[in-house]
Amino acid sequence: MTVRCSKGNCKNPAIIHQKYSGLHLCEAHFVDDVERKGKKEMRKGLMVERDDRIAVALSGGKDSSALLYMLKKVFYDRNDLQFFAIAVDEGIKDFRMLTLRNAEKITKELEIELFTFSFADEFGFTLDKVASKGFEQAPCTFCGVLRRKMLDKKARELGATKVATAHNLDDEVQSIQLNYIRGDMDRLRRLRGRREEFVPRIKPLRNILEKEVALYALVSGIPIATIHCPYAERSFRFTVKRMLNEFEMKHAGTKYSLMRGYERLLQFLPTEQSNKQLLRCERCGEASASGVCKACEIIARMEGD
Ligand code: SF4
Ligand code: ZN
Repeated sequence: MTVRCSKGNCKNPAIIHQKYSGLHLCEAHFVDDVERKGKKEMRKGLMVERDDRIAVALSGGKDSSALLYMLKKVFYDRNDLQFFAIAVDEGIKDFRMLTLRNAEKITKELEIELFTFSFADEFGFTLDKVASKGFEQAPCTFCGVLRRKMLDKKARELGATKVATAHNLDDEVQSIQLNYIRGDMDRLRRLRGRREEFVPRIKPLRNILEKEVALYALVSGIPIATIHCPYAERSFRFTVKRMLNEFEMKHAGTKYSLMRGYERLLQFLPTEQSNKQLLRCERCGEASASGVCKACEIIARMEGD
């Protein structure tokens, strides 16, 4: 039996059952729902302001491609806004080449300018090279630090007023849970805002489940590269991701309630300025929590090898 959409008088066949909301949605109402959540999040966080020049971090995967598409669609009539995409080539054989090709395809289709930068040019080594060293930490740890550094720097050089990243609800609650497990209150707070000297980050998809972002991409006809990073499974995050998915399957709504709990907790976390002196990295001059920033530490480690 075909299940019908639960919205108003809509009789279209449902394409999704949102267990956490109890709704069955047809394609059109599902797309509406995803875009409504994105717009609400952007309004709530004052993410998009007049005359913004927004750099979208584009990997070519489903999330960032969906984000770029949604921004272009939602703000089609805002002539004061400018969007462009930044892609980072970390140097992960096979995987990144395919997703970057996808990034080129989607930016061409959406008529958005794409700037691609590589670890090899910027730092003198690829992530594959880092991974081959057999360091104790998983490649993702290095990848994340270096990619953030590169995005910040390039976005600033390109005159961006904001950097939009495609973190979805799953990514966000994984980070929250990771930092709870590690007891890292500093990072826990930083998920919601960083020091002023960085180009502000916005996360329009942070209240949308990963599987809904994927379905949104699919029904919107967005080209998707269905390939996974070979290093992903080595990370601590991957373990947390599996655990949270199991919780969500058995107890629908777990991810949303974790996010709500985190937002309540935020008001009790101290602000950065109150508990830490503002420092700069001795090597690169970027804002840093210690004498040498994490990225420069990695670069030094690679150079010393
Ligand atoms: Fe980098 Fe890890 Fe993401 Fe792969 S999964 S691109 S190594 S952060
Ligand atoms: Zn540095």
